[in-house]
Amino acid sequence: MDFRESDELAALRQQIRSWLKQNLPSGYGVPGYRGPHDPEERIREARAWQRKLFDAGWSGLSWPEEYGGRGFGILEQLVWSEEYARAWAPDMIMLAVGLDLTGPVLIQKGQPWQRERFLEKILNGEEVWCQGFSEPDAGSDLAALRCRGEVKGDEIIVTGQKIWTSFAQHADWCILVVRTDPDLPKKHDGMTFLLCDMNTPGIDIRPLTEMTGEDWFNEVFFDSVRVPIDNVLGEIDKGWDVVINTLSHERASAAPHAKLESELLLLRELVKTLPYQGGVAADHPIVRQKLARFTTEVLTLRVNAYRNAETILRTGHPGPQGSLLKLGWSELDQQVKQFACELLGPFGLLTAEDPRAVEKGHWNYELMWSRAASIYAGTSEIQRNIVAERVLGLPRR
Ligand SMILES: Cc1cc2nc3c(=O)[nH]c(=O)nc-3n(C[C@H](O)[C@H](O)[C@H](O)COP(=O)(O)OP(=O)(O)OC[C@H]3O[C@@H](n4cnc5c(N)ncnc54)[C@H](O)[C@@H]3O)c2cc1C
Repeated sequence: MDFRESDELAALRQQIRSWLKQNLPSGYGVPGYRGPHDPEERIREARAWQRKLFDAGWSGLSWPEEYGGRGFGILEQLVWSEEYARAWAPDMIMLAVGLDLTGPVLIQKGQPWQRERFLEKILNGEEVWCQGFSEPDAGSDLAALRCRGEVKGDEIIVTGQKIWTSFAQHADWCILVVRTDPDLPKKHDGMTFLLCDMNTPGIDIRPLTEMTGEDWFNEVFFDSVRVPIDNVLGEIDKGWDVVINTLSHERASAAPHAKLESELLLLRELVKTLPYQGGVAADHPIVRQKLARFTTEVLTLRVNAYRNAETILRTGHPGPQGSLLKLGWSELDQQVKQFACELLGPFGLLTAEDPRAVEKGHWNYELMWSRAASIYAGTSEIQRNIVAERVLGLPRR
């Protein structure tokens, strides 16, 4: 791949950079700012920011123009993600299920009325979506899911449990996978993919508190929840195809190297003033060596992200190398945050509420949060299996 940027991409980069600079919501644009603490306020802010992105034509960048998107190719999307991370713009993870998963799968598999009803409200931030896939005994092995969907007339009656459902308490809608036929011999058959209104009676959402102290994800219980059969995406009992299609959209255009680059800049600033073993951390050879290694690894990640993009350009989908990227960034992210907390010593334990916390507890929070990335969107072990079998061609045991 030729890594030199074309004139068109360079111009787009400049345009994105200056738009973000002029339009970021107040407070953003500085390292480490994470937005309002109160979840309700945070979601309100995310919706308002999404509306602004939509009005300015920066929403649904990968979506085709006929569905209200920008029709960007993978390289343009990467440039956006890089500039977005470098600008310390708001983390829009709360809206990601709608924008990155539901929208693209609706475009590919939805009926015309479903696209008409849902797409614009996803693009402009009006409706928030959550993802009801995982269950207590069905995570990595998603096809083991048991949440029951009984077809009765023109409805599907859902009874069962989902878990780790991020932002369910704020969501208007859920992409929900249920088992409509439990008697089929193959577990990948007999599933149905539903668009479920989260305000339907019978849904009980119980938040789970993570070690960051936030209630990000939830257990969601369904007790005879009536979903109209019209809200099936794809075909009854053939939901697995839709699941695979949905997961294939997961983060193909993300630029994790850019977020890590920004974090490393912050770490480089920190060590310049941090007392360490009788001197300043930045002068210590081990610290310098570690920072040099992190910087090299982030550059390697960037090259891998572009290699991934090149595969998408050539074949239309990311391929198994995407697993190398996910594995690489999620593990490096943890190492960077772990190292920052080690350098801070006991101060690394302090959270935002403590006035003595360095950078408002940024590193402590980030270290705890970084643990999640080696679990969601395919755990590190699952990524290693994919790399072993499909990239390196090693035999299955
Ligand atoms: C922050 C966060 C947000 C999430 N949000 C959502 C959400 O919104 N909606 C949703 O549906 N889910 C969500 N998830 C759930 C996530 O998809 C699952 O946690 C993930 O798929 C792993 O499943 P599990 O937790 O059941 O672990 P398991 O699959 O039970 O795995 C347990 C351990 O066994 C290992 N393991 C499992 N199978 C293999 C194998 N074949 N080979 C080697 N090792 C293996 C795993 O790597 C792991 O270490 C979220 C998770 C996190 C952390």
